[in-house]
Amino acid sequence: MREILIVGGGYAGFYTAWGLEKSLRAGEARVTVVDPRPYMTYQPFLPEVTAGSVEARHAAVSLRRHLRKTRLIAGSVTEIRHKDRTVAVQPVDGNAYELHYDILVVTAGAVTRTFPIPGLAQQAIGLKHVEEAVAIRDRLLTAFDQAASLRPGAERRKLLTFTFVGGGFTGVEGFGELLSLATAMLKSYPELSLEDLSFHLVEARDRILPEVSDRPGAWVVRSFERRGARVHLNTQLLSAVNGHVVLSSGEEFDSELIVWTAGNASNPVVHNHTDLPVDERGLLVVRPDLRVGTDSDLVPDAWAAGDDAAVPDLASPVPGARTVPNAQHAVRQGKRLAKNIAAGLRGGRIRNYRHSSLGVVATLGLGRGIFQYRGIVIKGVLAWLMHRGYHVLAVPTWERKVRVLTVWLTAALFGRDLVSLAAVQHPRDAFVTNGGPQRSGESRASDHTAA
Ligand SMILES: Cc1cc2nc3c(=O)[nH]c(=O)nc-3n(C[C@H](O)[C@H](O)[C@H](O)COP(=O)(O)OP(=O)(O)OC[C@H]3O[C@@H](n4cnc5c(N)ncnc54)[C@H](O)[C@@H]3O)c2cc1C
Repeated sequence: MREILIVGGGYAGFYTAWGLEKSLRAGEARVTVVDPRPYMTYQPFLPEVTAGSVEARHAAVSLRRHLRKTRLIAGSVTEIRHKDRTVAVQPVDGNAYELHYDILVVTAGAVTRTFPIPGLAQQAIGLKHVEEAVAIRDRLLTAFDQAASLRPGAERRKLLTFTFVGGGFTGVEGFGELLSLATAMLKSYPELSLEDLSFHLVEARDRILPEVSDRPGAWVVRSFERRGARVHLNTQLLSAVNGHVVLSSGEEFDSELIVWTAGNASNPVVHNHTDLPVDERGLLVVRPDLRVGTDSDLVPDAWAAGDDAAVPDLASPVPGARTVPNAQHAVRQGKRLAKNIAAGLRGGRIRNYRHSSLGVVATLGLGRGIFQYRGIVIKGVLAWLMHRGYHVLAVPTWERKVRVLTVWLTAALFGRDLVSLAAVQHPRDAFVTNGGPQRSGESRASDHTAA
């Protein structure tokens, strides 16, 4: 039996494994997915997780539940030695070991790109993982509770100041959703008013949302400004030490929350720890059929797709264009990969990947959105409904669709949940405070550390 090893069970890896489960015949090959996370993150839902419109768990699609015929390994691949058909695995728990395979699929995605800006590593948070989205939401909810009991002043102003750095898709959607949540929450906080809120979106270029053309992009800026937010174009973050934001425009302010959404960098394992060919951006060099290598120099038994691969975009009129890193491509590349691998095992025809964009749709907060397909632009509530409709259909498995839809319908009837669960970070505090461990003679401090 051939061993197929998939590095990364995100979008592209999940769909590859899922497709292989459907297309492989019994005894043809064994599929293994290695990923430190036991779920595929449905990243387009993360902005709605920050706003409490999607339950955090619903953005996480369980690998074990949906990949029933696949062997799952909870760990990270730390090195790929393809000439030996071997990867090094660091399990989530325990000692590192090696795994051998016959066919390799690399779908490890990208990581958040950062810069050595003072204070950034200590103060900022990304928006690529479920835990980050939950923490952002809890931070805003906690800040509201704290600010409501303070008199107007510097401390309260800081608590109600929220900054996003990076005006791409992730930043714009996260910013719009959090702004929408904060504005809606004012109804429950008579101590606070819209004037007390301070939302900043900082973008180094002269426009936001590069995925849409100039005019819709400018409309999004205006719509944020109409909602009371500030958009700083042609501006960079210079420092974030102790939450004190210093911008290249000379403006400075204290910010309770700094969300860093300034783009993707290549996955460090793919970039630095593989003998497979990578391009100047650290992406795997792949052919249009998703096999690693070039037309003249094919690497046998190695495939790649998604955000970690430079896949030729056959649908683009621009020579040498690569597919943009998004879910639209990652899903379809995963499906194509599964079919191509199965065909390869049986000596069948391996086909090229080709997909023309379906357009761009983004949420800007509850009831607000923007959609563009070529020259067609739709704004406002209709675009937002299209966003929700598209994603509820796109999230894998009916079980997930029903769960997400149920939360949306419940929220339409009763509103969103406004309770911060930040206390889950310290789950034993209540127990320790009540003196439980002291009765048995244990130290509170050491107990708390162990938690
Ligand atoms: C907030 C947000 C919103 C988005 N919204 C949209 C949208 O509306 N539309 C759209 O088309 N795209 C959207 N995207 C982009 C889209 O989610 C990504 O392009 C897509 O997830 C890429 O899929 P992938 O499989 O390449 O990587 P991922 O989905 O990131 O999966 C990579 C997987 O590899 C695992 N991994 C990483 N390193 C290792 C390792 N060393 N060993 C083992 N496993 C590893 C990771 O844990 C992860 O599970 C959004 C992204 C974000 C962050």
